[in-house]
Amino acid sequence: MTDNLVKTPLTLLGLGDMGTALARTWLAAGHPLTVWNRTTAKAEALAAEGARVAATPAEAVAANELVVLCLLDDASVGSTLDGVDLRGRDLVDLTTGTPAEGRSRAAWAEARGARFIDAGIMATPSMIGVPEAGGYVFYSGSRPLFDRHRATLEVPAGSRFVGEDPGHAALHDVALLSAMYGLFAGISHAYALIEGEDVAPKDLAPLLSQWLGAMGFFVGNAAERLTSGDFTTEVVSNLSMQVTASGTLLRTAAEQGVDAGLITPYLDLMRERLAADPAHALEDTAGAITLLRRRAGRN
Ligand code: NDP
Repeated sequence: MTDNLVKTPLTLLGLGDMGTALARTWLAAGHPLTVWNRTTAKAEALAAEGARVAATPAEAVAANELVVLCLLDDASVGSTLDGVDLRGRDLVDLTTGTPAEGRSRAAWAEARGARFIDAGIMATPSMIGVPEAGGYVFYSGSRPLFDRHRATLEVPAGSRFVGEDPGHAALHDVALLSAMYGLFAGISHAYALIEGEDVAPKDLAPLLSQWLGAMGFFVGNAAERLTSGDFTTEVVSNLSMQVTASGTLLRTAAEQGVDAGLITPYLDLMRERLAADPAHALEDTAGAITLLRRRAGRN
């Protein structure tokens, strides 16, 4: 008996950078794989590696019970599967989307006779098939469906199942990605400040990494304060001091000829929290998080 006979066959729709990386890991692990991509040229290299290339999404979906999607966005999932017979299929949607898109795509799939789990990939293509790189995928929706395909889904990267609500994979994915862009914004501002000075980016880099690592305590600290509602106990960097210090940051940006637009939104949020109540002066900055939903008119 060859390996192929015992490995779950599957279909993958979407062979961009991520889809191609995923496909290669399943092929290397011996899973019979049917692929489809809008631009057929991208499937050719995979055909040489053993993939079966379907001519249409309908043919690809018909080939296997397990159908994985890795397309650009939720709209491309809808247009690709429009009119395709999904009855009896197990759809796993690795395409990045919003929580609402995850929920509505689940209802859409179930109305067409398919089972559905949504997912969010926390890895770059170079981390796929490289367990030590630490990448993983969030999954949410039907737990029995996830458990049924878990071994196959974990071939490219590890998994974190985050609940039966099909929107929760996207919620976790987008929460982490949003934090990442905030981090990138601060790092970009820091490098812009030293541009034109006799300070090399490569010399600032290790200092920046170390500082950001040390400030990572804020992740757990904010979680505790949001849970308890206590923003004032054991504060070591009070909001009043931080608002004053933020003026120094803005003056430095002006002196260095750097647009402060990437950091002002957070500094403005601290200012707003301080202005709302003099008692907030004794808080740390976690209290400012509560303003964001209020600003959007949510509570
Ligand atoms: P690419 O831009 O490399 O590929 C996009 C894929 O979507 C291609 O297969 C493309 O087909 C297809 N596509 C786009 N529009 C349509 C459409 N209207 N109809 C049918 N197919 C369409 O993106 P990635 O592969 O990098 O990303 C795929 C998914 O993975 C995205 O949701 C992304 O957010 C997610 N992801 C990507 C990461 C990364 O670092 N690359 C990290 C984590 C998640 P064609 O080849 O014909 O253009």
